[in-house]
Amino acid sequence: MRYASVIKRKWGLAAMAGLLAFSWACPNAAGAGTDQQPDSASAAARTLQERRMMIQEISQLTQIPWTYLAALDQYERTLTPKSRKERLKNKLISLDPQPEFWAGLINPDPGDTNPITIALFGGMGRDADGDGKANPDNDMDALYSLAAYMKSYGLTEEDLQISLWRYYQNERAITRIRQFAKLYQTFGTLDLNKTAFVLPLSSIYSYRSTWGDRRGFGGLRIHEGTDLFASYGVPVRSACYGIVETKGWNRFGGWRIGIRDIQNRYHYYAHLQGFDKNIEVGSTVVPGQVVGWVGSSGYGKPGTSGKFPPHLHYGIYKDTGHYEWAFDPYPLLKRWENEERRRK
Ligand SMILES: [Zn+2]
Repeated sequence: MRYASVIKRKWGLAAMAGLLAFSWACPNAAGAGTDQQPDSASAAARTLQERRMMIQEISQLTQIPWTYLAALDQYERTLTPKSRKERLKNKLISLDPQPEFWAGLINPDPGDTNPITIALFGGMGRDADGDGKANPDNDMDALYSLAAYMKSYGLTEEDLQISLWRYYQNERAITRIRQFAKLYQTFGTLDLNKTAFVLPLSSIYSYRSTWGDRRGFGGLRIHEGTDLFASYGVPVRSACYGIVETKGWNRFGGWRIGIRDIQNRYHYYAHLQGFDKNIEVGSTVVPGQVVGWVGSSGYGKPGTSGKFPPHLHYGIYKDTGHYEWAFDPYPLLKRWENEERRRK
């Protein structure tokens, strides 16, 4: 409550009304995704700006680092099912607190929006925008409530992780949120959706759609990816902003690297000749950054190579929060290639 009045003063009712009017007038407010079409690109940029402002304000009020708030919001956005995306499309924030967390475990009304009774039952729901309701569908209420919940555990890195553990009870969620927070910390912006083609456009390469082929090159028995044929030593580049999650030898993939992006996608580059010396697990990368070189490693003990023609095996996986599934990278590769060509 005390914070609610602080926020109201700080933002001013007129400013709040302006912000709400703005976000409602902005049909692509949920945009945020990758691969924006040019006509919605500026709307998406404005959305990111508005989101950043709100996150910054709540961070200043609660001392929870903005990078964590942004990471939580983005993590939940990447898990939002299509059915719910429609409902969220005019919202800046994608948090979806569990009713029992919001209203309090023993609250007889799990849909309670009265901040006084919610507080009585130990719920996390707060009223941040000063309308007298603790509404989980209200962007400010949701973000502020989660930040206040986290703050109640303390502000050290360890405290933050304990609060996240209590909230999600899922190790993967915490890993993702830490990765996202590191990306935001490193690059200082929410706008991490730029992409690049995975090989230099000037190199000689070829690839075609092989999704569903029983077997690709390099012993991957169920072929989940695209093989891009190029000579030994052609640079392999990150498609995205991301954080290196895996690096090393895999029996089938050979020297391979896995990079997590801010859309919660895992990019897998296999059969490399070697890795760029700056790349370690936990390193952050930018689109187009060289991570290694095309080779023919794999299908045997570490160091095995030459059992098939040199190529980059590229795969992409989407995290559902509990498991990951591969999807066909070919259309994305084509798009990234075309977009980069147009930018030249
Ligand atoms: Zn392959």
